[in-house]
Amino acid sequence: MTDTTEVTYDESRAPGVPLVRALNVTKAFHGNEVLKGIDLDVHEGEVVCLLGPSGSGKTTFLRCVNQLETINGGRIWVDGDLMGYEDKGGRLHRLHDKRIAAQRREIGMVFQRFNLFPHMTAIQNVKEGPVQVKGVGKKESHAAALELLERVGLGDKCDHYPAQLSGGQQQRVAIARALAMRPKLMLFDEPTSALDPELVGEVLAVMRELAQEGMTMLVVTHEMAFAREVADRVVFMDAGVVVESGDPKDVINNPQHERTKSFLSRLH
Ligand code: ADP
Repeated sequence: MTDTTEVTYDESRAPGVPLVRALNVTKAFHGNEVLKGIDLDVHEGEVVCLLGPSGSGKTTFLRCVNQLETINGGRIWVDGDLMGYEDKGGRLHRLHDKRIAAQRREIGMVFQRFNLFPHMTAIQNVKEGPVQVKGVGKKESHAAALELLERVGLGDKCDHYPAQLSGGQQQRVAIARALAMRPKLMLFDEPTSALDPELVGEVLAVMRELAQEGMTMLVVTHEMAFAREVADRVVFMDAGVVVESGDPKDVINNPQHERTKSFLSRLH
């Protein structure tokens, strides 16, 4: 092989190489640097929870992984694919929208606000992506969407519009909709923080099940109990840097850094 870019691409998804690899990622908004050199790997089948105070850059990092934001420095690979385009001088550029759309198909994202199409029923929301983007046939997409809605406990709500569903039910539809694209990676951005407390559990239960089934997940959350039980690893961020990371029981029960200690003590 003579093309060195190809070699890098192949090697980056050799066995044991992470599904997500972020190296020295920086991001600034109007001169305000909110990510200051983030290194973070997520291996296939791993659940990683991003913890940290509001404003520390967790959501921005997640959005960079999905190319909803363009990074200023560093590199992100998802499934061996560089998120961006490197010129001959080694500078990173934003890819064309079509290429970004193709890369995003590998990634499901669930937002704080459920972002369902209000004029479509639950099942129409779930099958929209496969039909429009992947060109899956009507019958097949309907059957798959039904199965996904059953999986998130909403088999009987297929024909309900978002406004007829509770926040927890809407968020479960949003998860089913992301899964319908058969992503390799699921990103969750504070998926329960807009919900009434009594509805949080049903969404976390779906996420826990997904984790048990082996889905690779990167989750921004303030739900410490969920992080402690479900995460393989937690990453604590503050002011745009990773302060510490490791086994959730170690980091949450026995934090090493003052900033982590202070954040966790404020939660109780
Ligand atoms: P977290 O998810 O940890 O609460 P965010 O990633 O949402 O943190 O925000 C990190 C910082 O970046 C905050 O100071 C926020 O105001 C700023 N920020 C995020 N998005 C934008 C944007 N689109 N324009 C300007 N500033 C932004």
